[in-house]
Amino acid sequence: MDLIADKRGTLEIKNSNLHDVNMELVNEFSQVPLKRDEVYIRSMYLCNDMIDAYASRFTVEALEEITRLVVGESVLKGHQHSSLPIARFFKAEVVEKDDHNWVRAWFYWLKDTEGALDLARNIDGGVYREVSISWRYKTAACNICHEDIRKCPHIPGDYYSGELCFYEMSEIQEVLEGSLVFKGGQIGTSIAGERSAKKDISSSKRKQKEEQRKIRELEKENRGLRKFAELGKRRVKEIKEEILRLARVVSHVEEDSDRFIRIQEKMTAAEIDCDLLMDYWKDFKRDFDRLFPPRRISMVEELSGNAQKSENVDSYRIGG
Ligand SMILES: [Zn+2]
Repeated sequence: MDLIADKRGTLEIKNSNLHDVNMELVNEFSQVPLKRDEVYIRSMYLCNDMIDAYASRFTVEALEEITRLVVGESVLKGHQHSSLPIARFFKAEVVEKDDHNWVRAWFYWLKDTEGALDLARNIDGGVYREVSISWRYKTAACNICHEDIRKCPHIPGDYYSGELCFYEMSEIQEVLEGSLVFKGGQIGTSIAGERSAKKDISSSKRKQKEEQRKIRELEKENRGLRKFAELGKRRVKEIKEEILRLARVVSHVEEDSDRFIRIQEKMTAAEIDCDLLMDYWKDFKRDFDRLFPPRRISMVEELSGNAQKSENVDSYRIGG
């Protein structure tokens, strides 16, 4: 079942200007061709990816979905679904503003209609300042356990080991409408004019910025991996040396020089499988320990007066 929600914001006023491209988009919804001086155009910062008063937030993907779904939908007053719309959304994009991602949605209404001028004056004069979106969505993932918040034991807004529980909304199914409302719920949501605001970072710039960030992350990861690779190479070299030392002793005691030659060939080969290397290491350690039991036993021998044997054992110990 889809969830239905609505969110509130605040309005902010900017001057509007003519944009031919906007009129092309507006005319996609008009039955008769409209000219720029026949319509009012404003925009809304409709919703964002911040954690809101309901301990929920949109993912960036959800914001992208909203930009596609809001186009063509109605602007209402106070979510009055029974009344006719006062304006219509014709364009939307995700922009970055104040370090957060926002859906900015543009809407228009006709000048030569009853109440049109009042609406423009109230918006431009700062009386109508807050906006709100209604939408349906499918996924509400808990940030603590990543399960569906409706099924997991966590409560949005509560703290768990000092971490605030909230849920992330994604898979937006439908945008029902955007409304002018008396009180907003999301921080900083606002109304703006027709032109792109200077403080906005457009979708393409935002994506470019995101790609650059990813490249920087990959470069950092790569540097880390190179360090690991260097450490790995050193360790392989040490293990090979240790295997050769053990092999030399074991093959000498067992008078099996062929075994030593075989392992020497393997250890000096250009490449060796890591699993195989560890197997050789285990084999020679086992053989060595069989021939020269660990120090605990030699100490027993020492206590029993067999000092000569324990010296021999020590002289064969690897790594001193
Ligand atoms: Zn949970």
